[in-house]
Amino acid sequence: MNMNSRLTADLSIPAPGSWSYSGPFDRAVRFIQRHQLLDASLWARFARQFTRPSDDQDLGWRCEYWGKLMRGGAMVWCYTQSPELYRQLESAAREMLQNAEADGRISTYSREAEFQGWDVWGRKYVLLGMEYFYNICADEGLKAELLDSLRAQADYILAHFGPGKADLREASCHWEGLNSSSLLEPIVRLYNMTGEGKYLDFAGYIVGLGGIQPANIFELALEDELDPWQYPVTKAYEMMSCFEGLLEYSRATGEEKWSRAVVNFAHRVLNSDITIIGSAGCTHELFDHSRLRQADPEFTGIMQETCVTVTWMKLCGQVLRFTGDPVFGDAMERSLHNALLGAVNTGKVPRDLLSPGGWLPFDSYSPLRAGCRGQAVGGRMVMTDNTIYGCCAAIGAAGFGAAALHSALLTPTGAAVSLYLHGTLSLPTPGGNRLEIRMDTKYPVDENINLELSVDMSEKFELDLRIPGWCKVPKVWVNDESVHADTGWLRLERLWKDGDRVSLQFPMPVEFISSMELGEGSEELPPHVALMRGPIALTVSEEFPGDDLSGTVELGSIRQTPVSEAPFEARMVFEAELKNGGRMRFADYASVGKGYDKNIAVWLPCSGEKEPSTTERAEHSLRKE
Ligand SMILES: [Zn+2]
Repeated sequence: MNMNSRLTADLSIPAPGSWSYSGPFDRAVRFIQRHQLLDASLWARFARQFTRPSDDQDLGWRCEYWGKLMRGGAMVWCYTQSPELYRQLESAAREMLQNAEADGRISTYSREAEFQGWDVWGRKYVLLGMEYFYNICADEGLKAELLDSLRAQADYILAHFGPGKADLREASCHWEGLNSSSLLEPIVRLYNMTGEGKYLDFAGYIVGLGGIQPANIFELALEDELDPWQYPVTKAYEMMSCFEGLLEYSRATGEEKWSRAVVNFAHRVLNSDITIIGSAGCTHELFDHSRLRQADPEFTGIMQETCVTVTWMKLCGQVLRFTGDPVFGDAMERSLHNALLGAVNTGKVPRDLLSPGGWLPFDSYSPLRAGCRGQAVGGRMVMTDNTIYGCCAAIGAAGFGAAALHSALLTPTGAAVSLYLHGTLSLPTPGGNRLEIRMDTKYPVDENINLELSVDMSEKFELDLRIPGWCKVPKVWVNDESVHADTGWLRLERLWKDGDRVSLQFPMPVEFISSMELGEGSEELPPHVALMRGPIALTVSEEFPGDDLSGTVELGSIRQTPVSEAPFEARMVFEAELKNGGRMRFADYASVGKGYDKNIAVWLPCSGEKEPSTTERAEHSLRKE
């Protein structure tokens, strides 16, 4: 780590429209925008769940879909700036306002059945969805209506819960009330919007409850002695959602101990539960020490939920902005390029015949050992018109929004680039000039990133560039002059002139990762091997003719081959010689298994003998992206 490996100031998200990218990231966002966020019938269907008590029958979570999609839609709009998307979101917001009862209550539960099951959780999402849209809403009249509605919805909840009233944790029979406690985030946001102390008091009440009934998870995080998988409740994304709220609470109150708790928690999740594809949970949707369990054959079935991936990316964004710690930029990059992009159903494969339009835009679970994508629709609920939706399909867009919004950030003294995507950044400088950074790169397919700056007027400011933690020998040039760089933030402070160039090179040899090195207890498990190249998990797939995932493998040398050798669209392809003869091919995790019918695997059973640490690398022979 170099001296500047941690930025001390609170980073901020630039204005909507600051990022303009092309390439696989942008294509994925446009795919989601076109097929999901612009689907008027989908918005209408989600809003319609609130016109009668659709969740009473099974105490379900039909109530979460609208708000999840609105939050993701507003975040994606900040990136794409699509007028069509804006119109759709505005119309969806207006439609939702129509669902308010006389006292402002909006719920998919009747008054007789309210505050059970997932009711508070669903209200949380309606609040969040409206709050996110409020932030981009250009119509002052509509903003006032939204704020009135937010107040009325919250006040209805405040009338029922709090000191001397009902206990918010008892407003659900699931997860000891963890889901209901995640109401914290929209309540703090509402305080930020209104300045009304009753909302901050209520947020303080939620924090005081500690998240769940049998323990106080906020205090557990502050004490920093247990990993989240050791807490009494381990439901992963509900818990991360509570900690996102806790950071907002700490920001609003200035109570430093709570931000420390969130940072402790995020580090513990990263070090104990995040896998090499950037998700968590090998026991369906639970924290379970997946750092170790990811290569444990005992853990079979659905794992690595997309809701977990997305909420982890959002938490990474929060903590990255708050602490400036670049490990959370590294983590977000890994989740984006593996688990999240892998979950996009680019092949429009029908997994559930009741899906609206026949298919869902996001897959719910990502395999790590031999298994197929598309195993199940997570959070599946049948809606009133006999179509289904799922929790992960509804949340996915927010993952892309989080990545875009945190790709380049503002610092008090300049700008910071955290994700390298081909395209142009347009940012204000501390001196009030306009800075454009053109990034020319195929990273992480290619290891070179070329930045060209244009400024209206020469100005001295700091440009911070994230040097990924996995990069052993980063190389950096400023206008052809070599600059020393270590992992972490590289701070370039100079008088920047129009046309200045920065070139980055992050050499990414293929690394053999042994499951025996995953930590205490790993040596007792059957040995597995995985291949990482930079942030990308290389993945075996039965889509490659002859690739056999059934037995143990002994990998020899690795070379890169043209992507045209893949019978599917891949970003990179590698071929390993097997010591017993034959070969095995790998592609990037996000590209494999998209037909939902072929096994893929990141972790391969092996003998456990030491693998070669160096790799042979062929000439790059890459498809033009
Ligand atoms: Zn989900």
